[in-house]
Amino acid sequence: MRIVLLGAPGAGKGTIAKLLSIFDGSVQISTGDILRNAVKAKTKLGNEAQGYMERGELVPDSLIMDIMGARLQEPDCKKGFILDGFPRTIPQADALKGLLKKLNLTLDLVVNLDVPREVILDRLTTRRTCSNPSCQEIYNIKSKPPTPDGKCKKCGWKVVQRDDETEEAIGNRLVTYNEKTAPLIDYYQKEGSLKSISSTSSEEIVAGIAKAIKK
Ligand SMILES: [Zn+2]
Repeated sequence: MRIVLLGAPGAGKGTIAKLLSIFDGSVQISTGDILRNAVKAKTKLGNEAQGYMERGELVPDSLIMDIMGARLQEPDCKKGFILDGFPRTIPQADALKGLLKKLNLTLDLVVNLDVPREVILDRLTTRRTCSNPSCQEIYNIKSKPPTPDGKCKKCGWKVVQRDDETEEAIGNRLVTYNEKTAPLIDYYQKEGSLKSISSTSSEEIVAGIAKAIKK
C-alpha cells in the first residue's frame, strides 16, 4: 500500500504505521527518521541537512523533498510505504504531489485519524518517560504505571513527564496542528483520496484501512 497518515499529535499515527507495516510489508517513513538516517549515512543531502540542524534552523521543504525522493526510490519501498505525519502543510502536500508524479507513483489512500481532543489530552498527559537517556522506557500513569515511588521498572531511574507532554504544551501543539495541518484534510478530500477513521481501537483502524484499499 502507498498511503499518507494524517492526525493530530497523540492520534496514534506511529502505532498504526507500525501495524500496517507488519500487515503487508510497506515501509514506515517519517521525515524525522529519513533526515536522521541521511545525516548518519553522510549522503550529500544528509550533510546539507546537518548544516541546517546544527545552526538550529528548519530544514527547508525543498531539501526534505529531495531526501524523501531518494528514500522512496530505495528497493524496500517497492512493496509500498506509509508516510507517517508527512505532509504537514499545504506547500508540502503540493511538493509531494509533484514528487510522486515524477516518480510515476500514485497514493492508494490518505487516512485521517480523527481522534477526539479529550482522548488525545488524556493519552499524552498521562504519559511518562524514563529519564535515563539510554533507556527512555515509556510509561502511562493509568495503564502502565512506573513503581509507586515513580521509578523506572527496567533501570531504576526517575520517570518524568516530558516538557512537550504537559497539558499546556499539548494544547499549543494542537493549535499548531489545527492551523497548519488540519487544512490538509480538505485538500485531500477535494482530491477524492481521503478516508477519515474515528475509531480509537488500533485493530479497527487497521482493518478499516485494509478494507478501503481493497475497494
Ligand atoms: Zn529506565
